[in-house]
Amino acid sequence: MDSPRPTHSIDRLVEELETLARISEAEPPVVTRIVFSEADLRARAYVKGLCSEAGLSVHEDAIGNTFARWQGTEPDLAPVGTGSHIDAIPNAGLYDGCVGVLGGLEAIRVLKQLGFAPRRPIELVIFTAEEPTRFGIGCLGSRMMGGVLSPSKAMALRDKDGRTLDQLRQQAGFTGSLESVQLRPGHFHRFIELHIEQGPILEQEGLDLGLVTAIAAPASLRIQIEGEGGHAGAKLMAGRKDALAAAAELILALESAAKSSGADDTVATVGVCEVFPGAVNSIPSRVRLETDVRDIDAARRDRVLTALHEACADVSARRGVVITADLVNADPPASCDPAILDTMEDACIAAGKSFKRMVSRAYHDSLFVARIAPVAMLFIPCRSGVSHRPDEYASPGWIGAGVHVLARTLAKLSS
Ligand SMILES: [Zn+2]
Repeated sequence: MDSPRPTHSIDRLVEELETLARISEAEPPVVTRIVFSEADLRARAYVKGLCSEAGLSVHEDAIGNTFARWQGTEPDLAPVGTGSHIDAIPNAGLYDGCVGVLGGLEAIRVLKQLGFAPRRPIELVIFTAEEPTRFGIGCLGSRMMGGVLSPSKAMALRDKDGRTLDQLRQQAGFTGSLESVQLRPGHFHRFIELHIEQGPILEQEGLDLGLVTAIAAPASLRIQIEGEGGHAGAKLMAGRKDALAAAAELILALESAAKSSGADDTVATVGVCEVFPGAVNSIPSRVRLETDVRDIDAARRDRVLTALHEACADVSARRGVVITADLVNADPPASCDPAILDTMEDACIAAGKSFKRMVSRAYHDSLFVARIAPVAMLFIPCRSGVSHRPDEYASPGWIGAGVHVLARTLAKLSS
């Protein structure tokens, strides 16, 4: 096909991103859009309206995943999918997720304007609740679509006010059977997610685009350490069972396991440390840690978890404290599809955009779509790598380059 020239459409896209950002539970420019809130429903209505205007047929599944389809000349073929999410954590910005949804729509509109007729359908997807804010679990919609979260487990999820997911989705108008959300492998021919990098690499290296080769996935452990409290002055060091001192050893053991994994892609963090009773003159009797270990290689990540379990056993034996470690979740990392990567690379070259191949250290809906379809992600830079903040920013030029390459890629894959 001829070169799409999307530059003229970037003003429209930026305007739509800004309009979407004003549909917020917080005062603009702060974006807060929690799943199934009034703002979320208004935002969905706005985007669905744009999709209908563009001539796409829209339908929703029982959890609110939204599909906007551009019919192909061979409508029975599996569609090429693209899309992302429009929910936003409290105090967020306007690009995370939304660039992939409205940018995907813009890519479709550009192709339509150019008179392109896809052989396969092209389907824009808006995933429900990528952010874990309300139900404590990320990528709710794509997780169920990929069959990673069962309907019965989903039914049991509650928000902090005790309202069930089932109640809330029905109130929001999504009433079908949750069993129907999972899609069969092969539903999508290929799936591509356009997203801001949420890291500084592309901007620092002055590159237009990142072609994502693998998506890292977190494993999360909750560790409880039961020691023995007592008076910080009266109790001598010899007989102590200080839960926080034990926790300190575990934190360092985890850091060292991640550092010695043999790859830069292994990262481990203890982001939560609750100390009981938390008084300066009292020996900590109980500590709760929450750990997050990520990698693009599941086996390497799991070796770090094993090292942490071994440290728990060792510290428990030496210090006489009781340690329990519960695996909260361990999602499998995903490798991206070489055919999509090559197509995106050709598109970058044809469009005159600079690029590099890179991994995604954050996880995205594509991680779960990868269970049912070959996926890849296309990253655009974001200023200083800042994300999940109101000052998150991607320039119109960066977004335009992403839309341009996405449009070319969708055209190629749907031909
Ligand atoms: Zn996102």
